[in-house]
Amino acid sequence: MHSSRDISLTPRPTGITLQSDIPICQGDLPLDWYQDEFAPYAEEYLALPDRTPESVIPWLDSYVKPALDYFGDSLLLLAHYYMGGEIVKLVEKYGGKVADSYALALQASQNPEKKVIVESAVHFMAETIATLANDDQQVWITNPKAGCTMEMMAKDWMVLPVAEELIAKYGDDLLVIAYMNTSGRIKAIAGQTGGAVCTSSNAPLIVEWARKQGKKILFVPDEHLGRNTAVKCSMDISRVCTLGDPHTYGVTWTADDFDTDAAEMICWGGYCGVHTIFTPEQVRWWKEKDWQVIIHPESKLEAVQEANGSGSTAYLWNTVMEAPKGSKFAVGTEGHFVRNLQEQAAVNGIEVMHLAEAKVDQDSATSGSVTSGGCGCATMSRNDPPHLAGMLDLLRKGNAPDINRVLAGDVVNEQTAKRQRLSGDERTIMVANAKLALERMIEITEASA
Ligand code: SF4
Repeated sequence: MHSSRDISLTPRPTGITLQSDIPICQGDLPLDWYQDEFAPYAEEYLALPDRTPESVIPWLDSYVKPALDYFGDSLLLLAHYYMGGEIVKLVEKYGGKVADSYALALQASQNPEKKVIVESAVHFMAETIATLANDDQQVWITNPKAGCTMEMMAKDWMVLPVAEELIAKYGDDLLVIAYMNTSGRIKAIAGQTGGAVCTSSNAPLIVEWARKQGKKILFVPDEHLGRNTAVKCSMDISRVCTLGDPHTYGVTWTADDFDTDAAEMICWGGYCGVHTIFTPEQVRWWKEKDWQVIIHPESKLEAVQEANGSGSTAYLWNTVMEAPKGSKFAVGTEGHFVRNLQEQAAVNGIEVMHLAEAKVDQDSATSGSVTSGGCGCATMSRNDPPHLAGMLDLLRKGNAPDINRVLAGDVVNEQTAKRQRLSGDERTIMVANAKLALERMIEITEASA
């Protein structure tokens, strides 16, 4: 099972390499996914003959290298492990860093000399970096339409009325724990209630910290991480109450519709479509073939309980990479990550497959069962090579669209890429509260290391 050793503050090189015969496949999106300013880069990219590294890299070099020269040491490129295609490798190739959301969050504050930070991942990650950044550091996202679907199920206008209802009912006896996959505004609610942020690595630590204070917990937004964490902390599962399905962009119920009085933990009803495809049947299929199964805790409790271990992306990566030669792992998490892990583990003589590639009877699995490749985070993959090239080129020329600039407290509509900003004073208050929640998490996590 995971431990605080899995939490890495400093990204390490992934070791994964670009392979010349694998096409850089992502980015085959319809052109209407690109903002007008980025469309010319996408058109050029899509016209490349085969989009293998042989054609993509010289094309990317023509935009990225002038930007690297122009910004020098003040530029920092970042990507998340879940980025699809070869973008993780491309970002590393140009001197950038690849990390999980916890390590990414700290990159501005840990690297004060970096003034222009360009992130290829989802919006909440860029916003968390911006929340902890100094005033002279700018954070940019290569595609503002890259939202996390779980975060989209817990926008502030959805959560705030319910949180206020619960605070009115339970007062100081309730605190909010905001998973990292939330906007800054939700993290600020956690800060205001004396709560903290958590990641999939440190969620049990943070929940235990709240329980020691005798608090009732509102856990936002992932009901599965909430439930898995409650079980890990030996909480009576009958005292975990899950609120309604938030849909995307709307809540049609109130907290009063649920029996929250007896609950020790109240989970928001959000989830990740990428991680909820895993089933106990898939886990058993691999175990019967003597494969070890490790899984991310955003997956359903029934699947997690059947697995040999569960934990964050860092846990999954380290468990495989530290295993003896000849080990075999079925890994239940995002598909691009598993592909990268598969490639790197093969160097150590370790076999890796995606958990959802189990050949289970469709009737015994959920409708989300897949038979090949596993499910990738499609929204994160909206940050593709044309977006990286375009962002850096537009920044160098001083023409970067304001919509790609990320400030703490921004709310983005992922369909239209329209951005709603707080006023300066509102942002100052929001940042102070969100920082409180983030700093509590860092303090609790570091104290346990
Ligand atoms: S994999 Fe799921 S939780 Fe992670 S960023 Fe993508 S949509 Fe969000």
